[in-house]
Amino acid sequence: MTIKYVYSFQEGSARMKNLLGGKGANLAEMTNAGLPVPPGFTVTTDACHAFFKFGNRLTDEMVRQILAALRQLETEKGQAFGDPYQPLLVSVRSGSVSSMPGMMDTILNLGLNDETVKGLAAATRNERFAYDCYRRLIQMFGNVVLGIEGFQFEMLLHRLKAKLGVELDQDVTAEGWRELIEAYKSCVRKNTGREFPQNVYEQLKLAAEAVFQSWNNQRAQVYRRINRIPDHQGTAVNIQSMVFGNRGDDCGTGVVFTRNPSTGEPVLFGEYLINAQGEDVVAGVRTPQTIETLKSAMPEMYAQLAQVCGQLERHYKDMQDIEFTVENGKLYVLQTRSGKRNAQAAMRIAVDLVNEGVLTREKALLRIEASHLDQLLHRGLDDAAVQDVLAIGLPASPGAAIGMIAFEADTAAEWKQAGKQVILVRPETTPEDIHGVLAAEGVLTSRGGMTSHAAVVARGMGKPCVCGCEDIRIDEERKQMTAGGRSFSEGEWITLDGATGRVIAGVVPLKEATASNELKQMLAWADEVRSLRVYANADTPEDARIARGFGAEGIGLCRTEHMFFAPHRLEVMQRMIMADTQEERRAALAHLLPIQQSDFEGIFAEMDGLPVTVRLLDPPLHEFLPKLSELQAALSEADSEQEGERIKRMIRKVQALHEANPMLGQRGCRLGIVYPEIYDMQIEALFKAASAQIERRVEIHLEIMIPLVGDASELKLLRELVDEVAEQVLGSDKRRNCRYKVGTMIEVPRAALTAKQIAAHADFFSFGTNDLTQMTFGYSRDDAEGKFLAHYLDKKLLANNPFQVLDSEGVGQLIDWAVTAGRSLKPKLKTGICGEHGGDKESIAFCHRVGLDYVSCSPYRIPMARIAAAQAAVEQGKHADSSQTAKVV
Ligand code: PEP
Ligand code: MG
Repeated sequence: MTIKYVYSFQEGSARMKNLLGGKGANLAEMTNAGLPVPPGFTVTTDACHAFFKFGNRLTDEMVRQILAALRQLETEKGQAFGDPYQPLLVSVRSGSVSSMPGMMDTILNLGLNDETVKGLAAATRNERFAYDCYRRLIQMFGNVVLGIEGFQFEMLLHRLKAKLGVELDQDVTAEGWRELIEAYKSCVRKNTGREFPQNVYEQLKLAAEAVFQSWNNQRAQVYRRINRIPDHQGTAVNIQSMVFGNRGDDCGTGVVFTRNPSTGEPVLFGEYLINAQGEDVVAGVRTPQTIETLKSAMPEMYAQLAQVCGQLERHYKDMQDIEFTVENGKLYVLQTRSGKRNAQAAMRIAVDLVNEGVLTREKALLRIEASHLDQLLHRGLDDAAVQDVLAIGLPASPGAAIGMIAFEADTAAEWKQAGKQVILVRPETTPEDIHGVLAAEGVLTSRGGMTSHAAVVARGMGKPCVCGCEDIRIDEERKQMTAGGRSFSEGEWITLDGATGRVIAGVVPLKEATASNELKQMLAWADEVRSLRVYANADTPEDARIARGFGAEGIGLCRTEHMFFAPHRLEVMQRMIMADTQEERRAALAHLLPIQQSDFEGIFAEMDGLPVTVRLLDPPLHEFLPKLSELQAALSEADSEQEGERIKRMIRKVQALHEANPMLGQRGCRLGIVYPEIYDMQIEALFKAASAQIERRVEIHLEIMIPLVGDASELKLLRELVDEVAEQVLGSDKRRNCRYKVGTMIEVPRAALTAKQIAAHADFFSFGTNDLTQMTFGYSRDDAEGKFLAHYLDKKLLANNPFQVLDSEGVGQLIDWAVTAGRSLKPKLKTGICGEHGGDKESIAFCHRVGLDYVSCSPYRIPMARIAAAQAAVEQGKHADSSQTAKVV
């Protein structure tokens, strides 16, 4: 069976986007809606796949179908391709499935040669116009098909205009264009060793092949990677009869948006040029005029354009970006697509379209992109002022920041105290740097990925962060950073853009976040639609307050270790770790207890009436002690014997605690089992805090979470400990007033596999997908992102970084299994996710699909998560209703 590779515009529709590409599908849709579209046809994305499969060339069958469609076009237009009297001219344009503006190639005026150009001149009685078209063809063909750099043609054009003493293209005469054509032809000859093809069929074939080929040009590949567009989509090629905006002063060409793409205001917005062809607008050869001026210059044309804009917007139910051409006073639409817009405009347009009755709330919600919320909720850069980009790293936490470089956390903290703005610049950060992160406006690291310590902590604090920026070198000793061949000392100013990963020299003006009424409206609609609850990962009362402000419905993860890193707390923690006996340890813990208790009291007060999930201590103990190398350095500088002894003792402890594989070592519940007194203290602090707040009439919903459980026996043992301490602290009377749950994180694959046994002792499951991903893939999360993961992504062995986007195929299967197994024993078992994936749109959709009750993410991601949860509910609609199990409140 022959495959149909070519569709005329009459044969297609907007629904055929995968086959015809966005542009082809829209041209077909517009043709069939009766809009003035020049006739043409589309060569499909299937043809693109076959093109690459058969050695980067059009197959005979494709050529046959293209020629058949061309014959039909000739009949429709009453012209013939290559005809010396009535030549048909066509454009060849790319049209990918997902919009990739400007990434691939276009060639106009195909069908011109030394003979047909004369025919065109005679038929249009406009010689100047005909030769202008011909020189444009050679220029575009030379550049796109033959790979000659554009500047060579630009230079020749420039020289000609200088020789003729004219400034503007429209002042060049037919004679001038003829001269330029000769110069262009010899440029082609010189660069390629061949003549510009006079055979129009050869032109067409080579042009179509070049457009397919442009799917794999470098900028298209980069664009796809950034925008997560799959490589297998491919592009279609649109071959369309030409209309000309460069035939005289009643002609022109332009681009119009149906609403203002920067503000969302419902007014036409765009530019046009009289007597010009499409690429003149883009190339900036002449300064275009605003659409507003068309109203007085060509009132009828403006009215026609406004009418077409309205029709297209109602048809597509979205703001459109339209390319149009006017030929001798007649309007043609060459393309329409959903217009790119900034976040503020996106929100306003979506809300306005709902209010105008064009869109439903659900459909409007689907229009919101995560990046829109990042822009609206964080400070951004005034892009016009960005000049000196030094390096680009991973956009780990959105927002922009300016500050003076500080290479150490202590320096950052000191400078902040002194009222300075700082950017903490480190190879990577560890929990010990937390005070520096807190003090800094933003964080820049040269190593580490999107789930590195710096990234996670900065996101949690809503601070801009650029991670894994390998283009910068940090010399910690000399306190210098080199980037882009330049050297920067501590104290010099830089700007970070956490949304794009840019590191910029000097100070770039910032734009404040703008939480508009439209955003609030959209979030309110999202809350009506979604079924997933949205909790926050919050470790302090301040985080909790911010989270609640963003609409958090509870805390899904409070990492208690973060409470121990502040300077005076860390000393007590270290004393506890250094203790040789349980008594000594208990004594040190007794000092930590009131500190923990007061933190918990603060969090409970902020979350009055909402669930607070507190995780008992998780990291391995060595993380609280200095590094071995630092201790050795300190030992050589110790100024007393006593001090030397103290350091030596610490060195011995650090060596004793050393683990080959700390992520799989003595951490999580294993710590609580070996040192029950640590968990004892934490549980006591929790219940004391709860008890104190109950006295103050705060409504407590405490959920105690045990980390890193791999076997039901671990949870059983620790649950007994919780109940015992609760009894001791609250007494049986108070116990009745303090409702609490005990649950576990599911972050070890074995816990997922034995979820039914574990559920017997759990009131809830919270999927710790950072560890679950790490352990399921067997990728150390500290090493993978900095080492092989980028390589894997480049080689497309993995579609996404699994630490950012939940791997639904593998890790997701474990989650699905654990939810089903857990609920087979306890149908109302509460389930949620608290790994970084809880703030990722695709992963949230997965959580909705498997019927989790909540997602938990950093406070600043909450608005995005509310929208993503609503989008998942809308998209998965009825399917989810029937498969979801009962929810627990
Ligand atoms: C997790 O593993 O997903 C998790 C939330 O815990 P942490 O990142 O603190 O190990
Ligand atoms: Mg974990």
